[in-house]
Amino acid sequence: MVPMVPKQKFAFQCKRCGACCRHVRESVPLESLDIYRIAKYLKKKGQVSDIEGVLQQFTVPVLLNACGYIVFTLKVTGPEDSCIFLQDGRCSIHEVNPRACRTYPIEINPGGLEPLLCVDYPHHFTGPQRTVDRWVKKYFTKEDQVFLQCEVEVVLRIAKLLKQIPENEKVHALPLFLYYKYTAFDLDRPFMEQYRENNGRLLTVLEKMIGK
Ligand code: SF4
Repeated sequence: MVPMVPKQKFAFQCKRCGACCRHVRESVPLESLDIYRIAKYLKKKGQVSDIEGVLQQFTVPVLLNACGYIVFTLKVTGPEDSCIFLQDGRCSIHEVNPRACRTYPIEINPGGLEPLLCVDYPHHFTGPQRTVDRWVKKYFTKEDQVFLQCEVEVVLRIAKLLKQIPENEKVHALPLFLYYKYTAFDLDRPFMEQYRENNGRLLTVLEKMIGK
């Protein structure tokens, strides 16, 4: 990963080789917003009926922190650990692919640090000159920006509360965490308003569990 500044240029052209979608075991993170978008898309196509269906069929839970903070990554298949959505060398959910895929080869740093350029596949770096800030503007949507700003603010608060949950309450806290963080979304309602409501409810319930 190479740190970049907004006006910096890089030569890049997607070669449709699928290289960045292979060998991705536990390495493509899915945020709540990604999961919501994918669920909505696959539901329309009749492939899932809800968010739980996406989580069960296409993701792997990963324990991010011993406190019980769980994140999801895309499932992989085959000898090359290919992303489960890679079909015939193409992304089968291209319209709603996760933020991490959409902004490739630029990685956006949630903490407001400079963007990073992923240089794992040198053969991708030929073709038209791109400018970092234009690339980010094109692929990092307004909704992504609003979501990520809220996420940065709330993640540490949730992790801190999870750490303080008494051992005998953990069995109740973790399902609530998963519910509010990932699945308590009505796919017919806009994401952000539900995300804010869910965060508020999760924080309240965790605070109650630690007696705040
Ligand atoms: S979601 Fe699509 S773009 Fe992202 S790794 Fe999977 S196949 Fe590739």
